Amino acid sequence: MKVAVIGAGFCGLAVVWNLLNQLFQPNLEVTLFDKTAIGSGASGVAAGLLHPYAGAHAKLNWRGKEAFAEALQLLYLASCHIKAPVFTQNLGVLRLATALKQQLDYQKSPALFDPNVAWLSEKQLQEMVHGCVHVPALWIKQGVTVHCKSYMKGLWSACQKKGAFFQKHHFHSLKELKNFSLIIVTAGALSNHLSELAHLPLKKVKGQMVEMSWPASLPPLPGALNSYGYIVMKPDGKSCLVGSSYEREALDSKVDIQAATKQIFPKTLSLVPALKNSQILKGYAGLRAVTKDHLPLISQVEKNCWALTGMGSKGLLYHALMAKELMHSIFL
Ligand SMILES: Cc1cc2nc3c(=O)[nH]c(=O)nc-3n(C[C@H](O)[C@H](O)[C@H](O)COP(=O)(O)OP(=O)(O)OC[C@H]3O[C@@H](n4cnc5c(N)ncnc54)[C@H](O)[C@@H]3O)c2cc1C
Repeated sequence: MKVAVIGAGFCGLAVVWNLLNQLFQPNLEVTLFDKTAIGSGASGVAAGLLHPYAGAHAKLNWRGKEAFAEALQLLYLASCHIKAPVFTQNLGVLRLATALKQQLDYQKSPALFDPNVAWLSEKQLQEMVHGCVHVPALWIKQGVTVHCKSYMKGLWSACQKKGAFFQKHHFHSLKELKNFSLIIVTAGALSNHLSELAHLPLKKVKGQMVEMSWPASLPPLPGALNSYGYIVMKPDGKSCLVGSSYEREALDSKVDIQAATKQIFPKTLSLVPALKNSQILKGYAGLRAVTKDHLPLISQVEKNCWALTGMGSKGLLYHALMAKELMHSIFL
């Protein structure tokens, strides 16, 4: 049975891995297609934040713990395949309560009943993170920062060893795939550009992120900082990624530093004020696929064609779980 997977981001790679490891229909021949290269969509520019309390109010995300556990399994798999960790844990993720509303929300968050999460007073946060604002925080100890490019390299290496093929091709219609008995579309925000998928209820939200030099006067962050925005340290400790913008009108994925910094800087400086003197090194941009209920979307488009998309800002959290769910939908 020949299977085509269109789109080589987090979802496409997780789908290929699951296709090659499911027991319902063994011996599949799987080809992963992308119009550019592996990780050229939103997955290639993601900051790498992964924990089950994403979102402004730090609520436990829908199926959050299960999804987190599935994502971690793929991260370990990828790490084994490139013989280097594809994520950093250090002190996890610190969710700073920079606004009064957030302090109230965080204090009601189910996270506080999670043994892996602790409430930090202003003083405790200052002792842990030099240079950050004087506010309390939720400390999500098991949160990780994924090195997205290495992760996708490792996961693809695992897929290749199981026999997967890659081909560069830009599809406009499923008719181009007549020789395949099963087609799975994981083309992110562009999924509904394929004519047969034009009806999928997806919105595009452009997201930008900026890389900045880290102030020499401060030690590198011991974990990621996250509030309305985020700051993630690059592995060399000399620069950081700050983000993200939410641009609902802009439909392309071109870097526009002016538009990016206008939205991102107020959020960043409310976390580490010393970054105001830092240098902008690079900009990154991508398109998020967002559904009405902000949940991932699995849809059977035709008898032999399925789509997995709608990851919004939580692709790292949901890609592994949803790829597994898709196998059940297709083969059971
Ligand atoms: C700036 C930014 C920061 C982010 N940070 C985080 C974060 O820290 N944590 C987190 O969980 N999420 C984050 N996200 C969201 C995350 O990146 C997405 O949820 C996730 O990458 C979606 O993965 P995907 O595989 O569905 O789509 P994509 O990664 O967009 O992959 C789709 C692929 O399909 C290909 N493609 C599209 N159309 C076609 C076609 N017609 N033919 C062939 N190939 C095609 C594209 O080239 C692309 O490679 C961020 C997003 C942005 C924009």
